[in-house]
Amino acid sequence: MDKELLFFKPVFKTLVWGGNKMRDEFGYDIPSENTGECWAISAHKNGDAVCVSNGYKGMTLSELWDTKRELFGNYGSDRFPLLTKIIDAADDLSIQVHPDDEYAKVHENGSYGKEECWYVLDCDKDSSVIIGHNANSKEEFDRMIDEGRFEELIREVPVHKGDFIRIAPGTIHSIKGGVMVLETQQNSDITYRLYDYNRLSNGKLRELHIDKAKDVVVIPTPENAIYATSANRPVETLIECKYFSVYKLNVKETVNLDNDVPFRLVSVVEGAGKINGTDIKKGMHFIVPSGFGALSFTGDMTIITSVPANL
Ligand code: ZN
Repeated sequence: MDKELLFFKPVFKTLVWGGNKMRDEFGYDIPSENTGECWAISAHKNGDAVCVSNGYKGMTLSELWDTKRELFGNYGSDRFPLLTKIIDAADDLSIQVHPDDEYAKVHENGSYGKEECWYVLDCDKDSSVIIGHNANSKEEFDRMIDEGRFEELIREVPVHKGDFIRIAPGTIHSIKGGVMVLETQQNSDITYRLYDYNRLSNGKLRELHIDKAKDVVVIPTPENAIYATSANRPVETLIECKYFSVYKLNVKETVNLDNDVPFRLVSVVEGAGKINGTDIKKGMHFIVPSGFGALSFTGDMTIITSVPANL
């Protein structure tokens, strides 16, 4: 084994709705008591994570992508395609929606759109999230927004630890207070806020993007099943979409993967163990580079792993 795993220093974001669970739960050195996001594996300009692994120490993930594409199997997209985040919602996030690639390309300077999905790491009892809306036509949707009828418009659904939730572009959504998720998403930071509870951030209302949100929302709302993951199946497919696939590994003793992919993102979300002899534990995120070979996870841990789509 001559290839090394690529570990990164996460980028933390202080946000009006953020909390401090990432310190207590994951042992991270968070910057504030309102730390909402940890961009754990990110090449986005708003939070380009720096590599801490020996051979590439000090290089950002975007630099690695631009200059060492062989680490990523010479994957043919102009930017690193994925982003892995932890989100700690002490309070409700804004009610929001993301564009797809086509809309973002035209209206957001060539940005990617945002398909995202959540694995619920932990949540308070009786927690919920917002997914989808109740309008049957564009006229009805626009009217309900203009009249401020958010309570009627949105769909709120209960969530539990271990649930997996897909948020396709155009889906109205919000993570509510008390919920912590691992998010796998396209490498994009485009969010259209529909409603932000009229709360202040640094003394100001955060900007809303009502017109763009109305443009991109899918009507009627897509059926978004919340899927309760298993704790027993060694390898569980959570999603295989146009942009990425996400799997959950329940490592009790050993889980082996062929790993015949250009590269792989790995997050340890529970427990501790080893990957091919290297110690890993809860809170670690890394990239398995191209050519690393088959993987053997041992120990007692839960892993969320993602791979880019075949181009
Ligand atoms: Zn979102």
